[in-house]
Amino acid sequence: MSHIQLSVLLDHVMRAKALDTESAQHVESCPHCRSDLRWLEQLERSRKFEPPKWALDAVIREFKQRHKRGA
Ligand SMILES: [Zn+2]
Repeated sequence: MSHIQLSVLLDHVMRAKALDTESAQHVESCPHCRSDLRWLEQLERSRKFEPPKWALDAVIREFKQRHKRGA
């Protein structure tokens, strides 16, 4: 199974849509996805309002750069 998509993790963190069982199990067992999820959760905790589209775009850009630099 491939990694959980950022948009799926984001929906989960924003309480928009829960992870399905398969995805939840993947996150449990995958350090990569767990770290992505934790990063999004921190972002969510610091969020005081619904994020506008540009903010989501910025998050996604940051993620792409993070992954490009390689962990
Ligand atoms: Zn993963």
